[in-house]
Amino acid sequence: MKRLVFVGPPGAGKGTQAKLLCERLNVPQISTGDMLRAAKASGKLPQELVLKMSQGALVPDEVVIELIAERTQQSDAAGGFLLDGFPRTVPQAEALSAMLASRGLKLDVVIALEVPEELLVERAVLRRTDKATGKIYHLKYSLPPPGVELEQRADDQESVVRDRIAIYKKMTSDLLPHYEKLGLLKRIDGVGTVEQVSGRLFAALGGAEAGA
Ligand code: ADP
Ligand code: AMP
Repeated sequence: MKRLVFVGPPGAGKGTQAKLLCERLNVPQISTGDMLRAAKASGKLPQELVLKMSQGALVPDEVVIELIAERTQQSDAAGGFLLDGFPRTVPQAEALSAMLASRGLKLDVVIALEVPEELLVERAVLRRTDKATGKIYHLKYSLPPPGVELEQRADDQESVVRDRIAIYKKMTSDLLPHYEKLGLLKRIDGVGTVEQVSGRLFAALGGAEAGA
C-alpha cells in the first residue's frame, strides 16, 4: 500500500489523516491544494487561477495534472506517495493512471473520507493553520498551543465552503463510481475524533501494511 489517493469533501479531515498515514508509511503527502496555495503565496499563480480558488471553483485539469506529473517524479516519491485532493475529476483520474502506467506503476487504493455536510462546514469554517509551519488546527476540536500565529484560508468562509461542498458532490458523482468499478475504493467513516478515524483507516488498510 504505497500509492494512495485521498478523496473527500472540504473539511473531511484529508490533510489531518494524510499526515498521520504518511508518517506511518514513510511516503510524502502530495496535496494539489497546498501546492497551489504555495504558488499563490509566492506570486507565481496566474491571477485567473487565484480568483477560481478564492471562489471555491476547480482549477483546470491540465494545471493540476502537470503539478502531479512533476511532483511524483521527485526522489522522495520513488517509493510511493499519498495524493491528497487529486484527482478530483474523471479526466484527472484517467491522466493519473496513464501517467503511472507509462512508468510501470499503478495505484494501490483510493480512500474516500465520508462526513455529513453540517460537520464539514463546522470543520472548515473553524479551521486555522500555523502561518509558519502550515500545521492544521481547529478552534473547537484542536486548539493550537499559545503563541502560534494562525491564519485562515481565503476559501474557508461559510458561503464558499458550501459552494465547494456542492462542487465536490457534483464531481464525485462520477469519480467515486469510476474507482469503485476499478475495485480500488475504500469508504471510511470520517465522523469521530482524529484518533478514531485514523484507527478505522489503519484497520481498513491492514495493520501490518499500514506500518502498525
Ligand atoms: P481537509 O484536508 O479534508 O479539507 P482538514 O484535515 O484540513 O480537512 O480538516 C478540516 C478541519 O477539521 C481542521 O481544522 C482539522 O483540525 C479539523 N479536523 C480534522 N479531523 C477532525 C476530526 N476527526 N474531528 C474534529 N476535527 C477534525
Ligand atoms: P484543497 O486544499 O484540496 O481544498 O484545494 C483548494 C482549492 O485548490 C480547490 O478549491 C481548487 O480551487 C484547487 N484545487 C486543488 N486540487 C485540485 C484539483 N485536483 N483539481 C482542481 N482544482 C484543485
